[in-house]
Amino acid sequence: MCGVIGVIGPHLENNSEENTPFWAAYEAYRGLLTLQHRGQDAAGILTYDKSYRRFFKEKNLGLIANVFNQKNIESLLGNMAIGHTRYATTGSDDKGDLQPMVTGSPFGIGMAHNGNLVNCHSLSESLKEEHHYQLLTSNDLEIILRYFAHFYHIGKKEKAFNFEVACNAVKKVYEVVDGGYGVVGLIADAGLIAFRDPKGIRPLSLGRKEIESKPGQYKYCVSSETVAINFLGYEIVRDIEPGEFIFIDLEGRVHSKVVKEEKIAPCMFEWVYFSGAESTMHGKSVYTARLNLGKQLAKKAKKLIDDGVIKPDVVMPVPDTSRTAAISVAQHLGVDYREGLIKNRYIHRSFILNTQEKREKAIELKLSPIRSEIEGKNILLVDDSVVRGTTSKKIISLLKRYGAKDIFLGVTCPPLRYGCYYGVDFPSKQELIANGKKVDEISKYINAENIIYIDEQDLKEAIGISDLCMACVNGKYPTNALEGEKFAKSRRSLRNENL
Ligand code: SF4
Repeated sequence: MCGVIGVIGPHLENNSEENTPFWAAYEAYRGLLTLQHRGQDAAGILTYDKSYRRFFKEKNLGLIANVFNQKNIESLLGNMAIGHTRYATTGSDDKGDLQPMVTGSPFGIGMAHNGNLVNCHSLSESLKEEHHYQLLTSNDLEIILRYFAHFYHIGKKEKAFNFEVACNAVKKVYEVVDGGYGVVGLIADAGLIAFRDPKGIRPLSLGRKEIESKPGQYKYCVSSETVAINFLGYEIVRDIEPGEFIFIDLEGRVHSKVVKEEKIAPCMFEWVYFSGAESTMHGKSVYTARLNLGKQLAKKAKKLIDDGVIKPDVVMPVPDTSRTAAISVAQHLGVDYREGLIKNRYIHRSFILNTQEKREKAIELKLSPIRSEIEGKNILLVDDSVVRGTTSKKIISLLKRYGAKDIFLGVTCPPLRYGCYYGVDFPSKQELIANGKKVDEISKYINAENIIYIDEQDLKEAIGISDLCMACVNGKYPTNALEGEKFAKSRRSLRNENL
């Protein structure tokens, strides 16, 4: 998963703060900071300045705050910018694989994306064999960029950028690529583009803000999550629809068209784990969904309490994503809520670190237990998901070392038994603890006295959407995913892991 943002506004004559030559880059930077949870491997910003007729870019490995400083932001000129925060699910840690990327034909086109192409391997072969195009990176964004440029070029009618030609190019991109993705882009001398996969697997939202000195004129922002739009002081206009192509020109006119309509399948994991609690997608608040997930989990736990199977003294979250659900569990069970694990906020999320070794080290470092809240207690520990089991096992062992009696692990997501090919970094089912295991075997592995999962129906009810991607739970992939196993295998070998 990654975070993307795009901003565009008209050229202003005045010298106000909102009209510095690098305002777009600065807004992209500030917006990216709110998307840091979506990827911590690398970050980049690309701008275009019409007066210089050129792109400006800055990208590097590391956190956003480490990649950017006042000097390099001030060098990113122009009234439109796209930004990216990377969590590598294809490609490598090589600097050449970082986003945004640019191509010079048929116009200057810059792009960044969030998500994954399942068929990236056969498409890179086709580009080579049929179109005689050698990819320069191993990042699947280059495939989208190349195909968009190729289809645009074939349909091109005139020198200037044409919205209808671009719609046709995106439609053809949808026909060849298989995956879940949200894309933002810049077209030199023309404007900002954005499009989202036809199933809406990955989120993308549109916001706008009236320009103080020019009432009735707007700046626009497109982002993976509404948290960035709100943070920048833009109003949320709407989600970009699945299969929709949007073009915002330099005069601030918004052109949009749904070029491919399909049954939607937004990723349930955005609500369960990935998105910021402040965000809203498809009209459904992440925070509310997490409260509801807690309520559903409480129903399952209540039954076990009534049957005398578990007897928790406290409900405790695994910080931070699970906190909202844990508060809700405690409230619905009438059991005390306690924080027994304090997270060091300066250490990255362990799940999105890209090797098993890095993940294990991170778990050791990031949680500090509070003995007085743990010792002698039966704990209903609440977590948002159990992926590889690594985190759960270590946390349970830590709690037991600090004197916990019985630990019942409540999980606000059903068992994950199938790989994700759409941008969450568990492409291979072999690495999932629940794959091929019964619930009591998982319990035994992580050394919990009991493990309580919600089920698929609970999840749908909690989020409030019935058409969701839940392929990692039930194996029903919303796209044909014919090359899923090939994708998983190559990802494994790239990470040099024998999972
Ligand atoms: S497979 Fe799971 S994690 Fe991947 S997109 Fe679907 S619901 Fe999300």
